[in-house]
Amino acid sequence: MHEMALALEIGAICDRELAKLPETRVTAVGVEVGAFSGVEVDSLQFCLEVVLSERFAGVRCEIAREAGTAACPVCGLEFEVMRAPFECPECGVMARGVSGGQGLQLTYLEVE
Ligand SMILES: [Zn+2]
Repeated sequence: MHEMALALEIGAICDRELAKLPETRVTAVGVEVGAFSGVEVDSLQFCLEVVLSERFAGVRCEIAREAGTAACPVCGLEFEVMRAPFECPECGVMARGVSGGQGLQLTYLEVE
């Protein structure tokens, strides 16, 4: 499963960060997922909780969705989109493409 592989990778990054910080406990992990990354947020949330709770009891996994940006071909307005269709909020024309919102990143580790 794609999401499980991502969760394992995030777990490995947490391990590497923690190796630099002895006597530290992770309380929360923040991840940002692009709206167009193809990652299923609910599935990733589940996998992260499984992977991270093995390492850090009681850890919170907080997933935020990152929007993509579309540009209107008529008025040039750039607007954030979370899903197709990409309709300009000013003139209602469909933008053809979207940029951004493709990635997945670990945004923070909260420790104590
Ligand atoms: Zn427009």
